[in-house]
Parts: sequence; structure tokens; C-alpha cells
Amino acid sequence: MHSGVLTSVVMLLDSKERRTYPMSYFCTVTTEIKWVTLEELDIITVSYHIEPSMHGASSTKIKVLRLRLKDKHAKFLRDLAGEVNFVWNYCNELQITMFNREHRFLSGYDFAKFTRGATKEGLHLHSQTVQAIAEEYAERRRQFRKVRLSWRKSTGNRRSLGWIPFKKTAIQAAHGQVKFAGRWLSLWDSYGLQAYPIRAGNICEDARGRWYLNACVAVPAAELRSSARRDVGIDLGLQDLVATSDGEKVSAPQFYRGLEPKLAIAQRAGKKDRVRAIHAKISNRRKDSLHQFSTRLVRGYDTIFVGNVNASALAKTPHAKSVLDAGWSAFRTMLRYKCDFAGATFAEVDEAFSTQTCSACDARSGPKGIAGLGIRAWKCSECGAVHDRNVNAAKNMLAAGRRRLAEGIPACLGHGRTSK
Ligand SMILES: [Zn+2]
Repeated sequence: MHSGVLTSVVMLLDSKERRTYPMSYFCTVTTEIKWVTLEELDIITVSYHIEPSMHGASSTKIKVLRLRLKDKHAKFLRDLAGEVNFVWNYCNELQITMFNREHRFLSGYDFAKFTRGATKEGLHLHSQTVQAIAEEYAERRRQFRKVRLSWRKSTGNRRSLGWIPFKKTAIQAAHGQVKFAGRWLSLWDSYGLQAYPIRAGNICEDARGRWYLNACVAVPAAELRSSARRDVGIDLGLQDLVATSDGEKVSAPQFYRGLEPKLAIAQRAGKKDRVRAIHAKISNRRKDSLHQFSTRLVRGYDTIFVGNVNASALAKTPHAKSVLDAGWSAFRTMLRYKCDFAGATFAEVDEAFSTQTCSACDARSGPKGIAGLGIRAWKCSECGAVHDRNVNAAKNMLAAGRRRLAEGIPACLGHGRTSK
């Protein structure tokens, strides 16, 4: 339905921005916000529409840049994350007490009164960071409709993964480094961070103890490309991960299968770190190839139609592992936000009968049902056309998409947005 995909970071930013600017200046967030897994989070977009008369630019977008911090800072960051947990738990405790005593819920603003001066009492965190934690706590508590949230643990087996939110005053980027909590941190700056004003964000740890900076930055929105130039239909499949209506294919790389024996050995030996590393490797391989292909598609086409294949339904069939391997939803997410940034059009189309229908004569003469999943090529019994199963499906997707656009879906709906 929408294209913005966001994390807590931007929720925070969102609420902050709303408060900072007068309503006349700041119009509305034009995209719906949802939570995503860390997997999906790479570069994330949200469109902000700012009144042209009030502001020079017609529109800007918030983009989240994710950059890996160098491992030498791990201890420093872990210590800071410990302080974050301390503040979080303090908020939790305060909320519990307040609820027991007065049946009252505290807002981020309420917490500010209690946390004021905390940074002078030995915490190394920026006072704005303390405030960001309290706001996040209040927001989450409200969102999950709970009296209290879980405690964040700094030590032991069930240690919470490090998370340090910040606001724009608490961070500074220069010469390929960022200054945070009084220290310059080195990172792999693949975006040239300095060029962007950082609005807010967080620093967080993954399951392997690697640290990342997620920085929200504002960039001007791309002009919408003409949707008349080149369009393509895309079929997401099992044997072929992706097939396009132009006949281009990416064979489903069996990321998981290649590493399965190694994974089994590591699991039997109870080597948790090794298991974690293999899982990370699988996910990285998949992500890399999906990124490369989606970028290439968005460069090559102005309008992209993708089937609305339902991965969770297919996951119940014997092909389950391949379905989960394929990462269709991650791929769609990438296409969607990349289209959004490049001004290309992304649309999901109903993929019912796309495999069974002959793209040449429209007869439903193709392979049917789950048994038909294994068939790669077939001949239409009506017109005699020979089809590659997935390319044929992609052609049907393209036709369905074109039909839909011709039926007059408003242009604005198509812009980087899924319209159903
Ligand atoms: Zn036919």
C-alpha cells in the first residue's frame, strides 16, 4: 500500500520533526510507517512533503544510511550501550512506580523532568541521547499498550543487543569519521556522510557483535520519470529467483543449501558462534545478489510490475525451504524504495493465473497447481506457443500492469508506491 519502511529511529525523528516545525511549515508525512526487521533495513525511505510556498524545495525524503563502525570501538560502544540500558531501565522502573501509585503513564516529556542532570552524574551519554531513550521508551510502551516493558540486560547470556539512539545535536561527521559522546569513531563511509546533514538515528549492534551507525539524512526527492518509456514485468519464482518479461533470469542461488552440511556440523558440535556466522553468511550472500539485481532493474526500467506472490502460503508446501531462501519480500522492499528514490514507478499486480495463462493467446493452458511447480517449459495447447514458465508469467504480469495503468490509476499513486 505504501512505500515507507521505517525503524524506531525515524518514528522518533518523525515525532520530533512534527514538534519542531509549526504545522504551516510541515505538512504531512506522505507515507505510512511500519516496523521492519533489521534484515530489511538498509536504506529506508520516507517522503516528507513540505509546502512549496513555505520552503524552496518541493519535497525532500528522509533516507537512513547504514554504515559499519570499526570493531576497535566495540568496547567503548558496549559501555555506552550499558548506560543506555541503565536509562531505559530507570524509565521502566519509574513507570512501574508511577502506575502503581497514581495509575499514570509517563510521556517522553514527563521523563525529561526525572532524567534532567543525569549526564552530570557520571553518565557519558549526551543529554539529548538520554531524552531520545526516554521518548523511545514512552513511544514503545504506548505502542505495545503495556504498563511496563522488558528490562534491557547489559551482561549475561540474554544480553540485549546494543542500541544507542541519538539526536542531531549529539553527532557530528567530518573527514570520514563521526564524533559521538566525545570520541571520534572510524567507519566505512561508503556514502560520504559528511555531505548530508544528519537528523537523528542510532548506533546498534548485530548478533555477531558488529556495530552500525544508522543515520537519518534528508535528501531532495527525485523527479518522477516518465512511466511511458520502458516497463518490465517480474515473476518471483523458485527455480528462477527472478524472471523478467524480457527473458532475463536470475537462477535462485541456493544460498542455504551450499552451507547446509557445514551448518549441521556446527550445530551438532554446539558451536553457537559458528552457526551464527554461517547464518550471517547466507543472509549476506542473498542480500548482495538481490541488491545488485534490483539496482540494475531500476536503472534499466522506468516502470516495474511485480506479482503479489504470497510467500507465507507457499511456505507450507514441500518447497518451503526454497520459498524462504528466495527472500521475495526483501526483494520487493528493495525494488520499492529504489524506485522511489530514482523516480521510477513500482506497482504490485495480482498474479492469479499468471503461470497458467498463455501470454500469446490468453488461454489457460499452462501448468496448474502445486504439481505444476516443477515444470519449467510448456507448449500452449491452443496456439502452440512454447513458453518458459517464469518468463511467460512475467509477461502476464507486464500485461496486467499495463492494463491497470491504462484503466487510469492516478499517476501519483504509482510513484514508488504499491497500489493495489
Ligand atoms: Zn496460447
